[in-house]
Amino acid sequence: MSFDLISGIAKPLITGFSITAKRLGRKKTTVQYPEQRREQYPRTRWRHALTRYDDGLERCIGCSLCAGACPAKCIYVEADDNTDEDRKSPGERYAVRYEINMIRCIFCGFCQEACPTGAIVLKKDFELADYKRDSFIYTKEMLLESVKGKEESAD
Ligand code: SF4
Ligand code: SF4
Repeated sequence: MSFDLISGIAKPLITGFSITAKRLGRKKTTVQYPEQRREQYPRTRWRHALTRYDDGLERCIGCSLCAGACPAKCIYVEADDNTDEDRKSPGERYAVRYEINMIRCIFCGFCQEACPTGAIVLKKDFELADYKRDSFIYTKEMLLESVKGKEESAD
């Protein structure tokens, strides 16, 4: 084997191993997900949730401003009137149906900014993967936080 050939094989190997050796002592930039998780940035925006007031009433008043602000047109709101016998929100109306197509959502947060009551918020839960397309249509029941003290919230 000629010297040039040996040098052509050995040089890149030595260069590669020396780069690896230099980096061995450095702090790792990766984590062993899902056992280890990085802390999320404070303004991280992922899974949506429909929030409630402390007394359990829904914040959403069915005004559809979130749907109007959504650039992906992935929010559907259907409103109905509250009655004294069956009051869902403090306002005149509430969302009888509220859906977000999470496949189309671009997580811009415009819906949260547009909402006058702070009802729709984007939380830090980023594990949204699923196997079926239908599972990505998030219904009001999926989005609405539990009543405090009854069940875990959707944080
Ligand atoms: S985060 Fe943006 S794209 Fe997603 S539902 Fe809200 S407004 Fe629409
Ligand atoms: S989430 Fe907010 S903006 Fe959207 S319908 Fe409800 S109250 Fe209106």
